[in-house]
Amino acid sequence: MKCLKDFEADLNKCSKCGLCQSACPLFDLTQNECAVSKGKFIMLHGVATGRLKLSKNINKYIDMCLKCGKCNKFCPSGIDVTQILSVAKYEYMRTTFLGKVINFLMSKYVFGNFIKFGQIISKPFRPQKKAKEGLKVVYFKGCVNQICPHTDNYLNKIFKNHPIEIIEPDFECCGLPFLSEGNLERFEQTAKYNLGLLDRNFDYLVTDCASCESTISEYSKYFPEIKTVPDEKSVNWGNLIALRGIKFRFKKPVTVTFHKPCHLKNDYFLTKILENCENVNYVEMDNYDDCCGFAGSFGVKNRELSLKLSKKKAENIKKTNADYVITTCPSCVLGLKQGLIATCKTKVVSLLEFLAMGAEG
Ligand code: SF4
Ligand code: SF4
Repeated sequence: MKCLKDFEADLNKCSKCGLCQSACPLFDLTQNECAVSKGKFIMLHGVATGRLKLSKNINKYIDMCLKCGKCNKFCPSGIDVTQILSVAKYEYMRTTFLGKVINFLMSKYVFGNFIKFGQIISKPFRPQKKAKEGLKVVYFKGCVNQICPHTDNYLNKIFKNHPIEIIEPDFECCGLPFLSEGNLERFEQTAKYNLGLLDRNFDYLVTDCASCESTISEYSKYFPEIKTVPDEKSVNWGNLIALRGIKFRFKKPVTVTFHKPCHLKNDYFLTKILENCENVNYVEMDNYDDCCGFAGSFGVKNRELSLKLSKKKAENIKKTNADYVITTCPSCVLGLKQGLIATCKTKVVSLLEFLAMGAEG
């Protein structure tokens, strides 16, 4: 397992140019240099070289990050903030009592069994699977869909008349919560377990969570020795629906807008899907790819900042006067809801929930 010392050269590459500040939503909100990668790297370089102690205060700034990766795209030195923060978190958590408690809660015995329990109690509410010949897709459900049966019902409606075989191995969580909390051993265990379940004889690995999709595609970054899924085979349901040219017809005219999750690789599918939707009017919101403010544990640890970001997003949604705001990440659904709550008529729905409303009967 890597340690912060291994990233000393990367941290040293930071030229303090400040370009990351122009991209970081948290710097924009707080004007605090420690909220953005530049300030975090200065602190962590001090830790890596032994001049600073990895203190509670530094940990506060490690946690003050959406892991949106927007700064990475601007950084001329190409420093990967998310990987460095995960390693820093790993070092901090190993030294604290709270870290040990959180790691226990994330273990297979607690977290893993909690998801298994959710699967069992939601089973009666899921549609019966009928064997179908056709495109062979492996569905990576993610934790939320393991517990909630709704998405299975939406997929059933959308693909009712389409030849597609959906295979659902007994995957674990994608591992993002473990990575964010610096539990790198658990992340490694999960990544290897998930990849071990793939028999490689499939057309696509599909998710409906942008964070799961991006985490799976990053397994190789953390574990170069393991064989991962090629990018062109790892897609989300939006890509697949667009590719199949599935048509949707809404009974009454509706206006929609779209929120692009930070972790969504691309949203080319949206235009194609909207072209195939009858009675749907699309209005693009300002800054449609700005963070929803939730960002997993960030939303719990940084409540005030999280709410401010969600409210900012809500203002842009309200201006569209849309009936629905659609997105492709269960965590973003929560972020959008916390911003919009009781303040506007726009309903937050996942892409699949929305399309199921217009699916052929
Ligand atoms: S990942 Fe996002 S929130 Fe974190 S420092 Fe970079 S731009 Fe800011
Ligand atoms: S953009 Fe990169 S090199 Fe410039 S200050 Fe930010 S982290 Fe450092």
